[in-house]
Amino acid sequence: MHKDTTKHPCFNKEKAGSCGRVHLPVAPKCNIQCNYCNRKYDCVNESRPGVTSGVLKPYQAAEYMDKVLEKEPRITVAGIAGPGDPFANPAETIETMRLLNQKHPQLLFCLSSNGMGILPYLDDIAELGVSHVTITISAVDPAIGAKIYSWVKDGNVVYRGEQGAKILLDRQLAAIKGLKERGVVVKVNSIVIPGINDEHIVEVAKVAAELGADIQNMIPLKPTQDTPFSGITEPGRETVVPLRKEAGEYIEQMTHCKRCRADAVGLLNEDKSMALCGTLQACSK
Ligand code: SF4
Ligand code: SF4
Repeated sequence: MHKDTTKHPCFNKEKAGSCGRVHLPVAPKCNIQCNYCNRKYDCVNESRPGVTSGVLKPYQAAEYMDKVLEKEPRITVAGIAGPGDPFANPAETIETMRLLNQKHPQLLFCLSSNGMGILPYLDDIAELGVSHVTITISAVDPAIGAKIYSWVKDGNVVYRGEQGAKILLDRQLAAIKGLKERGVVVKVNSIVIPGINDEHIVEVAKVAAELGADIQNMIPLKPTQDTPFSGITEPGRETVVPLRKEAGEYIEQMTHCKRCRADAVGLLNEDKSMALCGTLQACSK
């Protein structure tokens, strides 16, 4: 089915006031540990990726989608953004996309991943009509990546330090290339972490652009309790705006990201979650 890929409010700012998105929280596990992430807090007042009020099974996500579309017909995008990583939970992710593709083929499908486990699923992504994928890449140098990731897990093996960061980076770069070969629109999210990667993040933009990524979204670190980066101050506009300007020489920049929860629903400027919208009682984690 032909899909109008311009109707994604994150990839196209002009549509942010008229097109909405749903994040379906079907992916609880993660296969890496970022030093800014703590998924144990589950608070509806908290608005950031990695946070959700519940986890759905694929069939529940499909039923939830039916109800959401009845209430909010402006939804054009169904995405999976966690609360862990879609490809640390590949069976749930693929099954959810398969059900949505059967029931709501007119929607745009979107996945947001750290890239660690995505490579075996590139053909499934294309075949299931996933039009938009985000890969979060905050460093293209393993020495810097080693400061950002505490560990990465490949099957049952855990890698740390530069070795882990290099494995992750190689997969992230291969993911961009493979997705572009399959005609998928690719966004690169990069977390701006003062003192860690702020002087390196334009390099991420250059590498992403060379591989054909379409847009970069620099997200200021939101320091989270009980994480190694909890003491770092959130970077302000004076840090992020010049970085976006410099990186914009290489790749288009997203400037309207709302740092949504893993179960966000509605227009980007309406910060609802599954618990708040009340269309479905989510099962607990
Ligand atoms: Fe948390 Fe996402 Fe990093 Fe996994 S990839 S540790 S869910 S921020
Ligand atoms: Fe869009 Fe940013 Fe929200 Fe993701 S976190 S759905 S990119 S606004």
